[in-house]
Amino acid sequence: MEFNGKLIVFSGPSGSGKTSIVKAILSKYPDMFGFSVSATTRVKREGEEDGKSYYFISKEEFKKKIENGEFIEWEEVYEGLYYGTLKSEIQRLHQLHKHVLFDIDVEGGLNIKKLYKDRVLTIFVMPPSIEDLKQRLKLRRTENEESFNKRVDKASKEIEKAIFFDNIIVNDHLENAIQKSEEKIMEFLKEKQ
Ligand code: 5GP
Repeated sequence: MEFNGKLIVFSGPSGSGKTSIVKAILSKYPDMFGFSVSATTRVKREGEEDGKSYYFISKEEFKKKIENGEFIEWEEVYEGLYYGTLKSEIQRLHQLHKHVLFDIDVEGGLNIKKLYKDRVLTIFVMPPSIEDLKQRLKLRRTENEESFNKRVDKASKEIEKAIFFDNIIVNDHLENAIQKSEEKIMEFLKEKQ
């Protein structure tokens, strides 16, 4: 039987915990899901691996890929910082008979839905409050003051778009949010079999 690959998109503000949810699902079901590794022009953080967290490329390379039509979607997520989903990633994972999990920004997530429609499940990960989001970003210690402020500013705008997602999951407790996400994904896969 031909594999009917699906796309599961996790979006939400930076610091909402979407990456932790995606990682938990990937490690629980390694044969069922694969992670769409995006390309980015931002610098690598400690602990990140090229080709696993992201494909870290220069702005020039990124622009070349745009010109060559290699992206399904791309965004200048923060001023001067580009992120994009490569067509080759979806092909690679579907060839392995894995459904694709995305951890991308809100605009990117909605664009994937527009393109692939019924094959996509979109999940918005909502922080319990902006205060909580600020705390998490601080604890993460990945941002300087400027990028911290940019991320907080962007968060309020992103939250306004939550209504356009198939599901909104409030991440007030990580384990519960993981469980709810899993339930929604399994329901979707069953429905679309
Ligand atoms: P970070 O720099 O924290 O890894 O990611 C910043 C934002 O860019 C996050 O919201 C992340 O989900 C988003 N992002 C990562 N990859 C992509 C992508 O391929 N496309 C889009 N549109 N956003 C992405």
